[in-house]
Amino acid sequence: MPWERAPVDDQWPVEAIAEHIRGLLPLLGEDPTREGLRDTPTRVGRMFAELTSGYRVDPQRLLNDAIFASDYDGLVGVHSIEFYSLCEHHMLPFFGVAHVAYVPNGKVIGLSKIPRVVEMFARRLQVQERLTRQIADFLTQVLAPKGLAVVLEGAHLCAIMRGVRKSQARMVTQEVRGVLATDATLRREWQTWLVARGGSTNLLAALGPE
Ligand SMILES: [Zn+2]
Repeated sequence: MPWERAPVDDQWPVEAIAEHIRGLLPLLGEDPTREGLRDTPTRVGRMFAELTSGYRVDPQRLLNDAIFASDYDGLVGVHSIEFYSLCEHHMLPFFGVAHVAYVPNGKVIGLSKIPRVVEMFARRLQVQERLTRQIADFLTQVLAPKGLAVVLEGAHLCAIMRGVRKSQARMVTQEVRGVLATDATLRREWQTWLVARGGSTNLLAALGPE
């Protein structure tokens, strides 16, 4: 598992979390001293350190001067960025892909940074709507673009494993701002870009009529 290799921040309270998990296991009907579970509390402590590492990312260090002046004013985007998050209601994973497109206004961001921005906000306890908005707010703040579209398609294990069990259902959330919302031609352009480059036609339907 990736979190067993990942470095854990010095300040992260792995043992305090482990203690809670040791207390939880008997409540679930388990024996925390049996072989297979002996190291589980510590592993869970380390896992939470990684899955919530977004709280401890310094946005300035993340950007690391990767904002550049540019007079390009066409559509720039990164599609199908994988994300993994935890729903704040059940602490179960929700995951999927994010698509980000913008029209620059004198500034562009290094393309490798966009997935890092998505990850910074995904690795927290979240709801998909807020995750989408935080990505959009952050990029609006650092780029002040003429237009911006952030679309997330997520599968939520709390819906899939429990209750309705609709394993194919995907939740679509979007924040569309500036000229990508107001200019019909640009709006059509980014939606076409999205479908051609990885988004599904179902996704376009979910985004609603123009
Ligand atoms: Zn949930």
